[in-house]
Parts: sequence; C-alpha cells; structure tokens
Amino acid sequence: MKTIDELIAEGVDGKRVFVRADLNVPLADGLITDDGRIRAVLPTVKALAEAGAKVIVASHLGRPKGAPDPAFSLLQPAERLGELLGAPIAFAQDTVGPAAHDAVNGLEPGQVAVIENLRFNAGETSKDDTERGEFADQLAALADVYVGDGFGAVHRKHASVYDLPARLPHYAGYLIATEVGVLKRLTEDVKRPYVVALGGSKVSDKLAVIDELLGKADRLLIGGGMAFTFLKAKGYEIGASLVQDDQLSAVKEYVERAEKNGVELVVPVDVVTATQFPDLKTKAPSNPTIVAADAIPADAMGLDIGPETGALYASKLADAATVFWNGPMGVFEHPDYAEGTKAVAQALLDSPAFTVVGGGDSAAAVRTLGFDETAFGHISTGGGASLEYLEGKTLPGLAALED
Ligand code: ADP
Ligand code: MG
Repeated sequence: MKTIDELIAEGVDGKRVFVRADLNVPLADGLITDDGRIRAVLPTVKALAEAGAKVIVASHLGRPKGAPDPAFSLLQPAERLGELLGAPIAFAQDTVGPAAHDAVNGLEPGQVAVIENLRFNAGETSKDDTERGEFADQLAALADVYVGDGFGAVHRKHASVYDLPARLPHYAGYLIATEVGVLKRLTEDVKRPYVVALGGSKVSDKLAVIDELLGKADRLLIGGGMAFTFLKAKGYEIGASLVQDDQLSAVKEYVERAEKNGVELVVPVDVVTATQFPDLKTKAPSNPTIVAADAIPADAMGLDIGPETGALYASKLADAATVFWNGPMGVFEHPDYAEGTKAVAQALLDSPAFTVVGGGDSAAAVRTLGFDETAFGHISTGGGASLEYLEGKTLPGLAALED
C-alpha cells in the first residue's frame, strides 16, 4: 500500500487529488451532532493542500436512494471542513456534473473543493459492475490521483471506494494508515488478556464478529441490544427487549464454544428496563427500573445494563492488556440509560491497556458523555469496517489500495 507521504514526496503541486473521505456524520434536525469523522480526515486534506495539490474531497452521507435529496446534502459537513481547515472551500452541487467540473477547474494549487453526496448517483452503490464502473469513470475524469481515506466505508464495494482507485494512481491517506495499524495490534501478536466489550443495536451485524473472536479474545462482555438474545438463549424472559430470534441457535452455539475454548463470555446480571422507549429528543425523565437479568417483566424492555453488571464489566476490564469496545451498553442518548456505557468507558480510561473504541455511535457516546477522547488508545471512525476487519474479511477499499 503506497502512502500519502510517498505521493507528496513524488510531488503533487498543481495535481488534482481525489480524496475519498468519510464525512458521514450524525445529523439531528439537519445539524451535525458529532464532527469526529470530519476532524479525522483533516491531516490528509491539510498535507495535500500544503503540498500544493488541488484537493477534491468526496463522501457519502446517509442513505439517499441514488438521486439528489436535500436531506442528505454534504453542504453542512463541507462547511464544517472549511471551518476546521480555516480556509474557504468550494462546494459543488452535483457529483460528476457541470458544477463539479466547474469547482475543480476553479481550484488553485492548495485549494479544496467538496463535491455533493456520492450516493446521489445510483452508480455509487450499484451491485452491477458496469453501472459502478461507469460512475467511477466519471469520477476519474475529475482527478489525476486518488487518495483513499474514508476508513468508515472501506468495507463497501462502492464505485468511489473500490472501482475508482483501479482507474487512478492510488495511495492510502493518514486516517486509513492509522486505522489499519491499530487493527493489526488487535489481530497480530495481541497482548493478553484481550477483552472485547460488545453492545449496540445492530445485533445481526455484530454476531458474526463474535464467531471470530471466540478463537481470539480471552473475554467477551456482552451488553446493549444483543445482550437480550443471549439472555433469551439462557431461557430468560426478555419482555419487549430487542431480540434476534433467528440467531438464538447461533448464540447457544457461541456459549458452548466459548466454554470449550476457555473464553469467558459474560452476559448482564441486571438490566435497566422501562415499559416505553424513552424520548431521545426531549430526554424527558422516563421511568427506569433496575431488575435482575432473570426477572425482566413481560411488558418491559431492557435499555441498559444494570449497575451490578457495570461494576462486573469494569472488573473484567481492569486487568486487560488489550481492549476492543464496539457498541454502547445501553440507550446512552437518554441519561436514564447512559450509566452502563459510562461505566465501560470509565473502565477503559482507568485501564493501562491498549484500548480501541470502534463504531460510530460508540465513538459519539464517548464524546457526548463528556469523556476526554484523547485518553483512549484509539477511537476508530469505522464501526462496520473495523468489525469486518476483525472478522478476517477482505475489505474492498483496502484491497483496492494494495496493488
Ligand atoms: P455502533 O455505531 O457503535 O457500532 P450500533 O449502531 O450498533 O453501535 O448501536 C448504537 C445504538 O444502540 C445506540 O443508538 C443505542 O441507543 C442503541 N442501543 C444500545 N442498547 C440498546 C438496547 N438495549 N435496546 C435498544 N437499543 C439499544
Ligand atoms: Mg451505529
């Protein structure tokens, strides 16, 4: 994998450099609630601009349906990028149309343009190689060189991630280089004990990584929505909690394999429940009730790990040498269900271990709950991407930068 430092050493003055970033930030009512992903690509954009490149930054945002949709415009993230860079940015209101060409043609060396959401074009995410290839051809016409730095999207076989680098000289940006370096420390010569805490709501996505981790980690701590599939597999009542019924037999098999492999698989002993999902917008006080994990009322849903579980998980993290954490332990967006996530975050801070936080919401949780993000070993910008890497899969966006 050639790096951006090699590109800069070769010389980029006046060259049009296409940077595939991941500016897919969380938005609430049209406002950016966490700009971590924008800040993460700054070193790459700055270095290229300082070296005199004409920098074209591109990204997806949300899931528009292959056509322009103002709700998913990249304008706001582009403006924030400009603020953080401290330089004006040209914004093109299309991706490969006249506006994009005008914006790029108008760049002086050292200037930056952002083109509109790549997913406004159906070719970006198409499963059809030809359709994706055609869009990649159009993107390639905008630039001389490609820099891959959208780590959060490298697990996607999308035109700007996979097909475009095949059409241009390509290099890895600083963010991708950093992320891959960190993930290597979780897969090669891992310092033990290696403890993994998993939570969040994308249960089926995350069960696959458990399969792989059962052969790698020493201890797995289960929280968030996926905990209830484990509790149900134990035969407990889980009421209206999030559950993945089609995964029950898989989960039972994980529990057996963990025992056989000597992996400690720990599930909650108590949970915070409510009879209604809380209002995340107003954050109005709800009615949280702490119950033992085997005593969830049939009309309640589990929304966080309980205090006993929080303390248990903290003790299981205390002697770790390596920690990977993906997925909030509860519905941290509401203060009544944030304590479990806080307990795990604090345990990570207290631990001398090499700690990696993966997952968009997990990273946002660390920041919005008021933790000092620089105190963590590494906060990954890619949830799905880091999980798929840990599963041992080939990531299209990394493979495309290899040769
Ligand atoms: P990440 O982005 O870190 O990979 P996910 O996207 O999988 O994490 O999940 C994050 C979401 O999971 C949060 O919005 C949080 O509210 C939700 N969540 C956590 N625990 C529960 C639970 N017990 N029930 C429902 N949702 C949950
Ligand atoms: Mg998420």
